[in-house]
Amino acid sequence: MQLSGHVFAPRSSERSAAQFQYQSDSQWLLITHSGMLSYSADEVTFSDPVGDRPIRISLPDGRVFVTPRTPELDTWLAPTRPWAFVLDWFESNWLAWAGSIMLCAVMVIGGYQYALPWVSHKTAQAIPTPWALQLGDKVLATLDHYCQPSNLSTQRQAEIRRRVDHFLPRLPTMPYKVNIEFRSDDGQANAFALPGGTIVLLDGVVNLAKTEQQLDAIVLHELGHVYHRHMMTRLVESSIISVAVALMTGEASGVIDNMAGAGVFLLANRRSRGDEQQADAFARQALITLYGSANSLGEVFLLLKQQGGLEAPEWLSTHPNMEERIERSH
Ligand SMILES: [Zn+2]
Repeated sequence: MQLSGHVFAPRSSERSAAQFQYQSDSQWLLITHSGMLSYSADEVTFSDPVGDRPIRISLPDGRVFVTPRTPELDTWLAPTRPWAFVLDWFESNWLAWAGSIMLCAVMVIGGYQYALPWVSHKTAQAIPTPWALQLGDKVLATLDHYCQPSNLSTQRQAEIRRRVDHFLPRLPTMPYKVNIEFRSDDGQANAFALPGGTIVLLDGVVNLAKTEQQLDAIVLHELGHVYHRHMMTRLVESSIISVAVALMTGEASGVIDNMAGAGVFLLANRRSRGDEQQADAFARQALITLYGSANSLGEVFLLLKQQGGLEAPEWLSTHPNMEERIERSH
């Protein structure tokens, strides 16, 4: 191994042409016009290869030998510093850089769009029923901070529960035992399906229904959410996101602790369009099974739409495509 270049004297910018030679006895020989100096190989330090910059070789006496980067020198240096070469390769290949940034973006977006829903769905399916029930109870307890007790008579409540008990055996088997709860929230017409099979009907939505079949349509829509374990899936999803954010930012507080609070937030804000379409499809199919027609679903959507304005129920406001849903339910 023989390198041609220049040598700089210690603490000086004065340079002179020189040769740097490797000897078989692990010694390097520096040959200049004024003589020869010998250095033990383990005292000699090579700089990392970066682009087309020359390699600087620091010698123990303060001299620095500088030589152009050559394929031969690369081969010599490669075994001792593989990572430096990978980095160097990246630095000199902007295409590789752009490619790896693209790959990262694709992985993040793909993970969010495809892997996350899939993993959340599978995890939600696997969560044991007692956990789902406990979580449902917690969400209901948190919901009770915002809701008031129902003003419906106990007789009316019992009547609705009886109707549900009556048609449940004719529907696809639910993953949980269904439990209907009644609450009131300043007349808001809304209904929720909590994890673990509890359905909350607000007085506003019960009073909105003009016929028993319309009320059934609302309950059946919520049963669709129960059947597909939507809320549990969304909770798992938001937990995965918070864990991922915690891992990325190092902020670990509040990851697991407030799933019940997160549940209420989800109820209010995060009804995905896909979930609603699935719940509508379930309700439509169930209404056809029970009554031979899904008209009542369209009627309920229409009532919710008419109720619009400032008091627009969330059920409506989160569904900009009400016309499409009314259309489809016929
Ligand atoms: Zn819904």
